[in-house]
Amino acid sequence: MGVYGNYIVLFIAILLAWVATLGTEFSVQAIGLAVGLLGSIAYLAVKAEAARRHLAELQRLRDAYTQLDQQAKHIIRTDVELHHTQEELDRRLASLMSLHVLGRQLQVSLRPEEVFSKLDAAVVTNFGFSKGLLGMSRSLDTLEWGSLVGITRPEAEELTSHLQRSGLLKQLLSHPGPTIVKPSSATDPAHQTLLKLLGVSFAVMTGVIPHTGPVGCLLLGRMDSGGINIKADEELVSILTNQIATSIENSALYEQSWTTQQALERKVQDRTRELAEVNAVLVRLNKSKSDFVSAVSHELRTPLAAIKGYASLLGSGQFGGLADPQVERIRKIEKHADLLTQFINNLLDIARIESGRITMEHASIPVEEFLTSIHDVIHPQLDAKHLQYVVDRDGVKELLGDTQHLQRVFVNLLSNAIKYTPEGGSIRFGLKREGNTLLATVTDTGCGIPKEDLPKLFQEFYRANDPINQQVRGTGLGLALVKRIIEAHHGQIAVDSEKGKGSTFTVTLPTT
Ligand code: ADP
Repeated sequence: MGVYGNYIVLFIAILLAWVATLGTEFSVQAIGLAVGLLGSIAYLAVKAEAARRHLAELQRLRDAYTQLDQQAKHIIRTDVELHHTQEELDRRLASLMSLHVLGRQLQVSLRPEEVFSKLDAAVVTNFGFSKGLLGMSRSLDTLEWGSLVGITRPEAEELTSHLQRSGLLKQLLSHPGPTIVKPSSATDPAHQTLLKLLGVSFAVMTGVIPHTGPVGCLLLGRMDSGGINIKADEELVSILTNQIATSIENSALYEQSWTTQQALERKVQDRTRELAEVNAVLVRLNKSKSDFVSAVSHELRTPLAAIKGYASLLGSGQFGGLADPQVERIRKIEKHADLLTQFINNLLDIARIESGRITMEHASIPVEEFLTSIHDVIHPQLDAKHLQYVVDRDGVKELLGDTQHLQRVFVNLLSNAIKYTPEGGSIRFGLKREGNTLLATVTDTGCGIPKEDLPKLFQEFYRANDPINQQVRGTGLGLALVKRIIEAHHGQIAVDSEKGKGSTFTVTLPTT
């Protein structure tokens, strides 16, 4: 009945009580009626209060419900927004992952053409597009597609013709940065045709322009659903294009360095072949020279032996007595014949060792005897020049090699030391073991050798450009022969010298 109903009942009860008391005398009946009425009134008053409270409660519930309803709507709105943001984030994450994967693929592309073939369906989809084209331009009006996603080759060719005819290709290749094409903004008919040919309602296109100049272009398209972040698309496409441009630069550099390396390798091979040919010629020439020297030396030795023989026969007086001047001349003939024989022998030996016709013995040589026999040969020269001779063998007891030839080596070196050291100087012959090698040194306090002569010292017939060589006789063959003998023993020889102070010749020989 409501709050107003209760008030009406209460009013009627009071009215009836008042009517009942009117014109009548107070009686028990009247009092009972009045009490009944008052009770009803009290009851109705209580009811009315309860109803009022219910009403207030109801209002409060209604308000709470309205509030809840608004909050629920707000939550749903926020949830939808969150869902969109999540979707956008997922898309961007997928794009970034694709960029990363593509970046790695691009890094290993060795040729620019390869780079243009790397755009695939996965990358295009992850970028939030359904169609993708990546092409190479060798000039401002040529385009060859390397990657096609979601579009057939004939469709792509039609698109190429449109890009060329409309001048869009030139625009793309001349201005860096992506261009967005969508129906709302495609007032340019060329853009509208582009969307139609691509079969999409939204497209991003950009030129691939490294520092060296434009090399191609990229087109991506999709049916636009509206809510996608175009700014993000632009950013991603810019990053992708930069990555492609960098890879093209890198692959071009790689290709360039590869080509240069190939050219260098070819040159090295050519030079090596040429050198090998020249070397073969030199080996042949050297052999011819050795053969010639051997033959000539051999032919010279026989008549020389005859000259020496006849000279000594004449000198012995068998064919009649000779006057002193005649004997003196004959001795000179003998001496020069000896020098010539020695010269020829040296020449012959060098030729023989070079051609491998002399093999070195590999014998153990007792040092004591070895030194004595050398001293026997050189002591007349040492004494004649009053030179001090010191031997330091540092406990070495034996040498390994060919006794005769090694004696020749050290007699030669010591004879040179004697020849080129002025009277009163000193000569030292040292032996020392170092691991598996024997070091033999011949040191003198002589005239020394000019630095510029050192590299040629062991060549045949080479004599240092020193005035002392005008006075000291020599052929320039001694050191050449020494070097050949040492090398035939698998050893080495080196010289250290200072002009005016002396020289040291160091021979290293294996001890096993
Ligand atoms: P040569 O018969 O002229 O001595 P070598 O081949 O033995 O021929 O020596 C070549 C040249 O090296 C010599 O002419 C000389 O100029 C120089 N030479 C060799 N040994 C010495 C040395 N101990 N001191 C100075 N010069 C030397």
